[in-house]
Amino acid sequence: MTSLSEQVLDRIDDRVDELVELTCDLIRFPTINPPGEAYQPCAEFIGRRLSKRGFDIEYVRAVGAPGDNDAYPRINVVARREGSRPGPCVHFNGHIDVVEVGSGWTVPPFDGLVRDGKVYGRGACDMKGGLASAIIAVEALIDSDPRHPGTIEISGTVDEESGGYGGVAYLAERGWFSTPRVDHVVIPEPLNVDRVCIGHRGVWWAEIETKGRMAHGSMPFLGDSAIRHMAAVLERFEQELYPELAKRISEMPVVPDGARQSTMNINSLHGGQEGGHDGLPTPCVADSCRMVIDRRFLIEEKLEDVRSEVTNILENLARSRPNFRFDIRELFSVEPCMSDKNGPVAATTAAAIQEVLTVNPSFICSPGTYDQKHIDRIGKLKDCIAYGPGMLDLAHQPDEWVGIEDMTAAAKVMALVTSRLLRRTV
Ligand SMILES: [Zn+2]
Repeated sequence: MTSLSEQVLDRIDDRVDELVELTCDLIRFPTINPPGEAYQPCAEFIGRRLSKRGFDIEYVRAVGAPGDNDAYPRINVVARREGSRPGPCVHFNGHIDVVEVGSGWTVPPFDGLVRDGKVYGRGACDMKGGLASAIIAVEALIDSDPRHPGTIEISGTVDEESGGYGGVAYLAERGWFSTPRVDHVVIPEPLNVDRVCIGHRGVWWAEIETKGRMAHGSMPFLGDSAIRHMAAVLERFEQELYPELAKRISEMPVVPDGARQSTMNINSLHGGQEGGHDGLPTPCVADSCRMVIDRRFLIEEKLEDVRSEVTNILENLARSRPNFRFDIRELFSVEPCMSDKNGPVAATTAAAIQEVLTVNPSFICSPGTYDQKHIDRIGKLKDCIAYGPGMLDLAHQPDEWVGIEDMTAAAKVMALVTSRLLRRTV
C-alpha cells in the first residue's frame, strides 16, 4: 500500500497537462493593473473551478479601494474547504493582477503559449504559474484525502502590483488573514522552487522639492536655480548618505547579495520647463526641481531614522547654503518583515523541498515587497512565507515564462506542506 504522500505526488505527476492548461487559462485573462482589467471573470473562473472540489466560494469587492469603480471592480475570490474534523487552516494566496505588457515581446502575451517545457505570457511566473501550482496541489491532495482534517483556503486577490490595497490589505483589514480563521499562509510568488522566502525589506518613497526663483535664462544671476540646489542635495547624498548605506549589511538573507544592504534609488528628477512643440524649452531659471527617491531599508533600521537621515541632510543644507529652500513629501512606506525560519510553514516547506527536489533549501528575503506585509502588519499573522515556481528575475520582463518542471515540483512541495500542516496540532 502506498502512503498518502506517494499517492499525492503520483497524482500531481499524472496532472502535469492539467497544470499547464490551468496556467494558460489564467494567463488568457488579461488582468492588467492598472487599470485592473478582467478581474471579475478571472476571479469567477477560479471560484467555479474550486467549487467543484467542495470549496465554499466568496467574492469580495474592495469597495472604495483605489481604482475600484463599476468599470474596473476590485473583485477578490476566497475559497474555503472545511475538512472532516477540526485542525489548522492552511491558506494559499496568489495575486491575479499582472503588470502592463511593455515592449520587446516575441510571443503573444495573453495566449498562453507552451514551448520547450515553458509556458509564456504576462503573469506566467508572476504569478499565475504559482497560483495554478497551488490549485493543482490542493486538488490532488483532496482527491487523495477527501476527509482531510483542518481547513484549506485559496484566494485570488487583486492589485498586488499597485500595493495590494484593494486585495490582501482590504481582506486583512476585515479579518480574512488573521487567526483563528487562518493559521499558515503560503504566497506562491516566483522565488525559485528551492528557496523559502521569509520576508522582505522595507520601503520609503519620498518626493523632495527644491525651490528657486524664476528669471530670464540669459541673466541667471537675477534668479535662483532650483536645479543647482538639487545638485547640492545629490552631492550630499553621494558624499554622506550612499557611503553610509553601503556599510549597513543586514542579518536578513536578502537576495541578490547587493540587496543585503540598505539601498536608495533615485526614481525621477525633474527641473525647469518642459520642451515646447519645437523641442526647445523657454529660457528660464528653474523655480522648482523635484526628485523622487526610493529607499529600501532593513529590519535593523527604523522607518523614523530612515526619514530623518534624509531630512537632516536637507536641513543642514538649509543652514549652510544661501537661499536653500525645500519641501519633502512622503509618498509611500512599508515596514520590513521577516517570519521565523523555524516556524511551522517555513520549516515544513524546507523539509518538503528537500524531499521533492533532493536539494538543500535556502531561506531568503525578497529585495522588494509583496503582500506578506499586509498579512504581517494588518492581519498580525506571522506564520507566512512566499514559495513558488519561476525565477524572480523574469517577473515584469518581456517574454515572461515559467518552467513546467518547476511548477510540477512546486505543486508537489505545496501538497506535502498542506497535508502536514493540516495534521499539525497547535
Ligand atoms: Zn507577484
